[in-house]
Amino acid sequence: MAFQIPADYASRPAVVVGAGTLGRRIAVMLASGGVDVRVYDPDAGVRAAAERYIEQTLPGVVASRADANAGNFSGTGDLGEALAGAWLVVEAVPEKLELKKQVFGQLDELAEPDAILASNSSSYASRLFLDHVAHPERVLNTHFYMPPEQNAVDVMSSGRTDRAVLDFMLETLPRFGVHPFEVRRESTGFIFNRIWAAIKREALEVVAEGVSTPQDVDGMFQVNTGASGGPFRLMDKVGLDVVLDIEEHYAAENPNLPEGPRKLLGEYISQGRLGVKSGAGFYDDYPKP
Ligand code: NAD
Repeated sequence: MAFQIPADYASRPAVVVGAGTLGRRIAVMLASGGVDVRVYDPDAGVRAAAERYIEQTLPGVVASRADANAGNFSGTGDLGEALAGAWLVVEAVPEKLELKKQVFGQLDELAEPDAILASNSSSYASRLFLDHVAHPERVLNTHFYMPPEQNAVDVMSSGRTDRAVLDFMLETLPRFGVHPFEVRRESTGFIFNRIWAAIKREALEVVAEGVSTPQDVDGMFQVNTGASGGPFRLMDKVGLDVVLDIEEHYAAENPNLPEGPRKLLGEYISQGRLGVKSGAGFYDDYPKP
């Protein structure tokens, strides 16, 4: 049976499950499209921090777009209450496969029959979340980067997603100030994260081979692309341990990747240089934690 698209979505709430770094940012974008947004997180402290973040950020986002208009938002620790009547659920819980499987099982059981269930996972295809899901045709990946600053969204099928759901999301997401791009085949790292991974990898390799330094690579990157920062500065911001985890994930799938980038990251990490969060990484000019 074809999936019934929630055509009346504009008058129904959207839900974000997990109110951490990304969840609260996704909530801001959804609320800026004028729909009411409910944020579910089991941690009351996180919910309160997310509400403060949304309250502070939403007015600026609404003011930056002529078509924007602020919806209401509220936090709750009751999943059933959050899901009642909702047309869209975006999952943004920690990046743990078993947890995601369990959450998608719950969402599939408790959400409205026409609710679309989307995952913000950075590294798992939604195909992997279907073990306890009876209606896989409504499950997909919608991978937000870092809204409201970086507003691209990868939209990827689980392999069993109804085509109408993908088309509906590609058509509807721009209303919320984000730019959807379809990932046309299953891809670890989707579209842009994969390209960015290649840039980071080659930048690290150039330094690992002794061809250049982090400072010179960043300087050249800025001069030639006009970007405000280079890959090493950005890796310091993300955290070198996180960058290494991501690269190891790609290397596990592709044994032909060079080892130099992982070795170089490992050397910095073993000296306690994790980037901004530890006060030093490729650069030293960060406040000491
Ligand atoms: P986070 O740790 O900041 O937030 C996760 C939140 O989920 C926490 O507030 C936690 O209390 C909550 N949570 C835990 N169990 C839950 C449950 N069962 N139900 C509901 N909420 C629960 O994580 P994050 O960085 O926001 O990442 C969330 C997702 O977004 C991950 O899949 C990650 O891969 C993806 N992502 C992260 C980034 C990033 O830069 N941080 C970028 C793009 C995508």
